[in-house]
Amino acid sequence: MDCHQPAHTLNGQRIDVEANIGIADDMELALDNGADGIGLLRIEQLYLARPSPPTEEELWSELKSLIAPLGNHRITIRLLDIGGDKPLPYLGMPPSPNPTLGRRGVRLLLDYAQLVRTQMGAILSLAHEHPVQVLIPMVTLEDDIRRTRETFDALCAERKIKTPPAFGAMVETPAAALAIPTLARYVDFFSVGTNDLTQYTLAASRDDASVNDYYLDSHESILRLLGIILADATGRPVSLCGELAGREAMVPRLLEMGFRSLSIAPSLIPTTKALIRTIRLGAATILPLAPVIGGEGLGVRGPNGTGGNATCEHAANVKPVPPRTPTGCEECLTAGTSWVHLRLCLTCGHVGCCDDSPGRHATRHAHATSHPVIASYEPGERWAWCYTDQVGIDLPPQAVPYLR
Ligand code: PEP
Ligand code: MG
Repeated sequence: MDCHQPAHTLNGQRIDVEANIGIADDMELALDNGADGIGLLRIEQLYLARPSPPTEEELWSELKSLIAPLGNHRITIRLLDIGGDKPLPYLGMPPSPNPTLGRRGVRLLLDYAQLVRTQMGAILSLAHEHPVQVLIPMVTLEDDIRRTRETFDALCAERKIKTPPAFGAMVETPAAALAIPTLARYVDFFSVGTNDLTQYTLAASRDDASVNDYYLDSHESILRLLGIILADATGRPVSLCGELAGREAMVPRLLEMGFRSLSIAPSLIPTTKALIRTIRLGAATILPLAPVIGGEGLGVRGPNGTGGNATCEHAANVKPVPPRTPTGCEECLTAGTSWVHLRLCLTCGHVGCCDDSPGRHATRHAHATSHPVIASYEPGERWAWCYTDQVGIDLPPQAVPYLR
């Protein structure tokens, strides 16, 4: 199917596939390849290619001509992510003894108020004519995002902007990933940058080939952080813009975890959309990815029949218990809200919602309790997911008598 059409999974879930770009040529390729929008505009080039910083007017004009071909597609513009190894000569910044861990991204922006006002001002002017979002790079502390949000709100008030563009934070440090509930108070959306998240989590520089073996962006630790981000971002859209989002082998798992928006290199858009169109979310997607699983306790099995290699000890050892709230999601019932996609925790009988339910209470429950195996509680479905091993489990009809 045409890469210019939106990508839906086989069960009809729309996935936005946007582009990461830095310059006008990337924009052309992104549009030729069917980008649904620009999920990440790296603005650095507009600053590095000149001897002094642009005025707001100059920046607005450059951005305006850059995004002209975009039509009505949305663009997410990230404020300057410079500092450390990418200094701006005209700022006269002292060299950093350890650039990667130094004053970069928002840390630097907070010291240069005028740089922030210029960028936000230009973006707010663009927003009169085009759907844009603002993104803050390298957030670590609550203060990083609280202070930038204050500046943003003040500029919106000065300019009497009643419906400001969405304001988001990059999640690129483990500290940000683990403090999503706090950061969420200041932002409208999150964008996860796994390129930096990987280097900071695995303590391996993304620019140092000698530690390539440690720079693993699909390492268990990264997948767990992604799960936590999704579970904690309740109600805030989360997109993924690191290179992980374009890795073919990882796309099914990312969608299964709950990502509905990926931003990737323009060249990867057609194949990624084609891949998404072959994916069925739920058991059918997970099972081919999962190793053969077997074991006594749960009676789980691989695709070839009963038994098999017990590669998920959590599934093998769990003793399923009855649902605590057989009629629906525990938290939603209490709050009087509605849900979709019910899951049953086989360790304690918690029933929670998942996937497109705003609360994602089943996921939150799994992360909060470390109870590993959560089964689908949808009528007729016979599969489970181990959050610890990140594998799908095919449940024989009698394995969990409490399913519907
Ligand atoms: C990231 O860190 O994953 C990211 C998208 O930002 P950049 O690659 O520009 O640092
Ligand atoms: Mg980054």
